[in-house]
Amino acid sequence: MSKYTLTQLEQHEEFIRRHIGPDAGEQAEMLACVGAASLDELTERIVPPAIRLPAPLSVGPSYSEAEGLSAIRALASRNKVCKNYIGMGYYGTEVPKVILRNVLENPGWYTAYTPYQPEIAQGRLEAILNFQHLSIDLTGLDLASASLLDEATAAAEAMALAKRVSKAKKANVFYVADDVFPQTVDVVKTRARCFGFEVIVGPAAEAVNHDVFGVLLQYTNRWGEIGDYTDLIAQLHEMKAVVTMAADIMSLVVLRAPAVMGADVVFGSAQRFGVPMGFGGPHAAFFVTRDEYKRSMPGRIIGVSKDSRGNRALRMAMQTREQHIRREKANSNICTAQVLLANMASFYAVYHGPEGLKCIAQRIHRLTDILATGLKSKGIDLKNASWFDTLTFTVADNAALLARATAADVNLRCDADGSFGVSLDETITRADVAQLFDIILGAGHGLKPGLIDEVLLATGSGSIPASLRRKSEFLTHPTFNRYHSETEMMRYIKRLESKDLALNHSMISLGSCTMKLNAAVEMLPISWPEFANMHPFCPQQQAEGYQALIRQLADWLVDITGYDAVCMQPNSGAQGEYAGLLAIRQYHESRGEGHRNICLIPQSAHGTNPASAQLAGMKVVVTACDKLGNVDLDDLRTKAAEMADSLACVMITYPSTHGVYEETVRDICGIIHQYGGQVYLDGANMNAQVGITSPGYIGADVSHLNLHKTFAIPHGGGGPGMGPIGVKAHLAPFVAGHSVVALEGAAKDNGAVSAAPYGSAGILPISWMYIYLLGTKGLTLSTQVAMLNANYVAKRLGEHYPILYRGRDGLIAHECIVDLRPLKEACGVTEMDVAKRLNDYGFHAPTMSFPVAGTLMVEPTESESKVELDRFIDAMIAIRHEIARVESGQWPVDNNPLHHAPHTLADIMDPAFDQRPYDRQLAVFPSDAVKANKFWPTVNRIDDVYGDRNLFCACVPISDYE
Ligand SMILES: *Cc1c(COP(=O)(O)O)cnc(C)c1O
Repeated sequence: MSKYTLTQLEQHEEFIRRHIGPDAGEQAEMLACVGAASLDELTERIVPPAIRLPAPLSVGPSYSEAEGLSAIRALASRNKVCKNYIGMGYYGTEVPKVILRNVLENPGWYTAYTPYQPEIAQGRLEAILNFQHLSIDLTGLDLASASLLDEATAAAEAMALAKRVSKAKKANVFYVADDVFPQTVDVVKTRARCFGFEVIVGPAAEAVNHDVFGVLLQYTNRWGEIGDYTDLIAQLHEMKAVVTMAADIMSLVVLRAPAVMGADVVFGSAQRFGVPMGFGGPHAAFFVTRDEYKRSMPGRIIGVSKDSRGNRALRMAMQTREQHIRREKANSNICTAQVLLANMASFYAVYHGPEGLKCIAQRIHRLTDILATGLKSKGIDLKNASWFDTLTFTVADNAALLARATAADVNLRCDADGSFGVSLDETITRADVAQLFDIILGAGHGLKPGLIDEVLLATGSGSIPASLRRKSEFLTHPTFNRYHSETEMMRYIKRLESKDLALNHSMISLGSCTMKLNAAVEMLPISWPEFANMHPFCPQQQAEGYQALIRQLADWLVDITGYDAVCMQPNSGAQGEYAGLLAIRQYHESRGEGHRNICLIPQSAHGTNPASAQLAGMKVVVTACDKLGNVDLDDLRTKAAEMADSLACVMITYPSTHGVYEETVRDICGIIHQYGGQVYLDGANMNAQVGITSPGYIGADVSHLNLHKTFAIPHGGGGPGMGPIGVKAHLAPFVAGHSVVALEGAAKDNGAVSAAPYGSAGILPISWMYIYLLGTKGLTLSTQVAMLNANYVAKRLGEHYPILYRGRDGLIAHECIVDLRPLKEACGVTEMDVAKRLNDYGFHAPTMSFPVAGTLMVEPTESESKVELDRFIDAMIAIRHEIARVESGQWPVDNNPLHHAPHTLADIMDPAFDQRPYDRQLAVFPSDAVKANKFWPTVNRIDDVYGDRNLFCACVPISDYE
């Protein structure tokens, strides 16, 4: 019998039973089906003994949900929530409760996957389109991306875009104004170093004195000043430089759009549109540029197209999966972005509308005016002559001011030169401004905000230069003017949600993506104020709870990965790859081997691997795979020997992207190390390793972990994610640092890879809870059941479809590849047809055409019960029978339920349907399971080519609506 079985759970282990789908009885049935006596025996047969961990993890015992909540409550209570005026890209905000409850805390939104299957994702596609529309309207530029990871990485992307499109081909300088946020400069410098660009930081006006291909300005700047850059930009354009601009989203409501000044790229954080600070993230960054640069755009774009009935339909445009297709030639490595947070920000704008937003922005500005007027009347020196929401000033007695602020639980910005800053936000009231007077001026100043208000009414403040005030309308589109009552808003959110298939409807068996349960108990703490309302740059002693949580999580991950240290900064898997490769680069440099720049990548690798290698300034050399999908050891050895002195590293995935535990993985590590290279192991498949083997034990040097795959952070419809990296001790000194917050372990001048010191810290409580609740026993059991579920699916589907790769004993690891190429050859039915037909059966398609074109990759995860697996398998078998009818000629290749899938209500209401060779019943209710739980795709199959030819990425014009 298995060491761990569900029947022997103690009370404090009850969560294991909730997380793991199949109960003891179901497990026994499935074990019988795959021909194994126990989970342990199955594991033994699957996993090569050479890599099997000799001892269990030391994560600790398992806990009940109640115990978990009280443990994390205790951590939360060690965070002190102060009033924050720190600003620097992070601001207090009121999350509208209708959005908090119906989006952030709603599995219909947070458990959805990236909308690669647009027919069952029209809801979130519309919400993202709203985000793009908002970005375009506020900046005045033409083309917006669906979201980037944060403001600082968006700046790095803007720099890369500038280099791609600038006609100043010989220029190698990217000039950064010295009033840009320091964390942005930090991330830009890190990226520039890899590309070999020279970064010069100096006064904005002096950019023209350098041979620049691009320039970064910030509007409003870090001191609060609002610059008019019109003339400067005109001069820079004459030099053929591309001008990129960081902008504050709230200020854009009242300020002139940057496009009017001539900016070529505008980006910034959308955090203060209703997304909590979360100690640094997750938040969405917006990114907007000129239409002519569309081929150079980083990240995803949502575009408008039409479906097979000619109806309007949305889908990801152009570079939809650009790093998957273009690999090392991709514009960026962005895969997981920040969809959930972009949607929250867009809903915030929809809920408030243009008038509501103006009201909020003007109130923030007015209170800042009052504060400034009061301070000036008392002789305080303001550093900035103009402002929207931020003032920088000096006082006579810094210590006294700080003491008063501390006593009042108020955080101000403290600059290195001894000046102070305050940034106001929508949560600030008149009473808060009165308190600021007390803090800054000391008692007895006699100022009253109300009286100053009257003065201002009479004189005006002139704090926004007339030339920089917004004169144009924005958000006039009906979507932003219809849903201002809570009832309307609640229904709009619900209407969109119902168009999307998420985990709360049925299993999403996406290979490599590990769509497991995101338990409610894991999600609860992220909206607690002690986690949600912490500023990332607050005095770190206020964040003791976060520090303890992060340290504990890092310790567990060290144990789970077999590494020596974990860096929590990268905020997606692909960013983790980039951060890990940087550590490798710096390690080589530290040994005088900075010339090592070759990154070997097997041809089966995920597209982000080569894209990240390119970002890290490495050259990609592709190595072959053998017929079984394994890394071709001979080819690897030959190439490693050829590169020898220039070999930097290899990037492999384990178990392989084909879902098999390669027997030779230790040999791979040995070969690479022999030639002085490092081994990067892509940790996306950790779900097949936890408690059984580990990258460190196998012999790798560094890996990223997708906390949004293996460690229960939900996918959010395409983000957020977290991609911390684990490293062996020799790489630990080279992980990311941060210029604002000193990080334990990392050298201070190690460049940053994200804006915030701990990336998207606000979602780390989810993974903390996951590991804490499951403990050693539940984590290990999860891995074993993930393997059981996958083998059960492979076994049953294998009777109807070829399963592409198998490992020892004909078994697979945690996912399987269903080969549809022979069927396509035989009768023209494609993997796309099968994917869309699965929608009719109420399922999301598995991963399509990765890692092998013409296949589907299924990863059921441990969270799916046998009942659900059977429903999925039965659907796949029924589809196989349908294909047989096409094969036999009973149905024409271009007129059958697969070809026309997915089916909509419009289809079956159409009298022309009578001409089809199958009936309506088969179209939309192909099984009893579907009848009991029907999901209706809202559009028919979407025409990608049409959408790309007619690229349109904002809300459809009002005329199209009526
Ligand atoms: C998901 C995945 C990645 C990228 O992770 P993101 O968080 O989406 O950036 C990299 N490699 C593999 C194998 C993956 O499955």
